Amino acid sequence: MNKIQLYDTTLRDGMQAEGISLSVAGKLRLAQKLDEFGVDYIEGGFAASNPKDMEFFAEIMKKSLKHSKIAAFGSTRRANTPVGEDHGTRQLLAAGTPVTTIFGKSWRLHVTDVLRTTEQENLAMIRDTVRCLKENKREVIYDAEHFFDGYKDSPEYAMRTLQAALEGGADAVVLCDTRGGSLPSEIFDITSSVARAVAATVCIHCHNDAELAVANSLEAVRAGASQVQGTINGFGERCGNANLCAIIPGLKLKMGAGFARCGSLKELTSLSRFVDTLLNIAHDRRRAYVGESAFAHKAGMHVNAVEKNPASFEHIRPEEVGNERRILISELAGGSNVLLKAVQMGVEMDRRSPQVKEVLHHLELLEKKGYEFEGADASFKILIQKVLKKHRPFFDLLGFRVIVEKRGRGEPPRSEAIVKLKVGGEVEHRVAEGDGPVNALDNALRLALTKFYPAVAKVALTDYHVRIIDPKEATAAKTRVVIESSDGEDTWGTVGVSENIIEASWEALVDSVEFKLFKDEEKAQRHKGTKAQSGKPEA
Ligand SMILES: [Zn+2]
Repeated sequence: MNKIQLYDTTLRDGMQAEGISLSVAGKLRLAQKLDEFGVDYIEGGFAASNPKDMEFFAEIMKKSLKHSKIAAFGSTRRANTPVGEDHGTRQLLAAGTPVTTIFGKSWRLHVTDVLRTTEQENLAMIRDTVRCLKENKREVIYDAEHFFDGYKDSPEYAMRTLQAALEGGADAVVLCDTRGGSLPSEIFDITSSVARAVAATVCIHCHNDAELAVANSLEAVRAGASQVQGTINGFGERCGNANLCAIIPGLKLKMGAGFARCGSLKELTSLSRFVDTLLNIAHDRRRAYVGESAFAHKAGMHVNAVEKNPASFEHIRPEEVGNERRILISELAGGSNVLLKAVQMGVEMDRRSPQVKEVLHHLELLEKKGYEFEGADASFKILIQKVLKKHRPFFDLLGFRVIVEKRGRGEPPRSEAIVKLKVGGEVEHRVAEGDGPVNALDNALRLALTKFYPAVAKVALTDYHVRIIDPKEATAAKTRVVIESSDGEDTWGTVGVSENIIEASWEALVDSVEFKLFKDEEKAQRHKGTKAQSGKPEA
């Protein structure tokens, strides 16, 4: 198999997605990330209509990229307009990119009903525009829009449009499944015929309207396409574009394809998450290969098998794509989950020890009350410590009070919390304000503790989820609060459950602070341990 080129269009087709947009600065950051990852082409945006994209082209051309070539996207000239007078073509040249990608029509329905021109003029539009761009020393990628639908309508005419582009001097032709409704078998057959007939590079561009974009892209490669177009995480209009984060590992790990430039597959998960963060889109944990749940194991028997041999339930090794295996703690947990999770968290437990059973028993009781530990590793660790009798509280609560005051319609509410606690023999009594009652409580707790445990000042609450739940053994509805905390080095989740939202939040906050203090203590002990054995190599 030839080396496969990767063509990313997140910055153009990806931006067509509902609810997605990026500033010029954001586009530049993503382009640089894609370059580091090693895609061959980065399509930066529309040359013709969009001043923001033109600004992006001007800025990106000043940067020196390691791998990627920048492509500007546009269309063939207008009907019955000489190419020299065509505004769009002029803008494409003005973008100043080494590569131009232009789309034209391959489907007669579009020629007659949308462009409202003749089949002959459409061919001339393609040929003229490609030729003009070639004369201006551009690498030209010709995007045959609706190619597969056009081919199904008339193979002769669809092939003539490609021929027109090649006569103009196109370096590559892109077969587009623009409506995203073709089947893998159709894509394979049609791409095979084109690859046999055409000497230029054949590229594939699929949309995901039938949830087949990845399958279709892989089939096209098998049929002879040597460039794949897509977007990171499959973002794109309607149901999205072909997802490069699934195509790249599919090509490499399952089809044995090589890439011209693509760096390490191990960077794939981080690239996917980077794009989510940049676009401010919630991470889809079920995404193939790179999702947080892609290698998460829940049912006890599965975990037991994975522990013996990961291949039993994992189609690839998660680290190959930079992802990781996760063991979920839940009511389905068997002893294996608990054990594996405990080991992952640095707690030593013997498989046969009665403590494993005891942890399971506690888990069951807590889950009946509405607790869930899947997003709350830190609370789970504290639970194990409690069972192992290794837990000691860092402070005693003497009481807290939370006040929310609103002085009239239109006035913002004020929140204040008072916390009284005891550390050693000393009583600390503190008050703090906050954006809301939980924030105020968090501030007051940390204010009271900082004197004794300065490290607590470094902890920040990074996420806060509330769920109203209906636990199995309760008459009233309860609130489950899961918070995520970070000290800049690590992030951890904790959970609290109560009929009272403030009490549930308090539980999660206390676990979070205690986890931080445990963690630092453990680190200090490890440090001491290594010092004491200095001279010996570290295990
Ligand atoms: Zn597209």
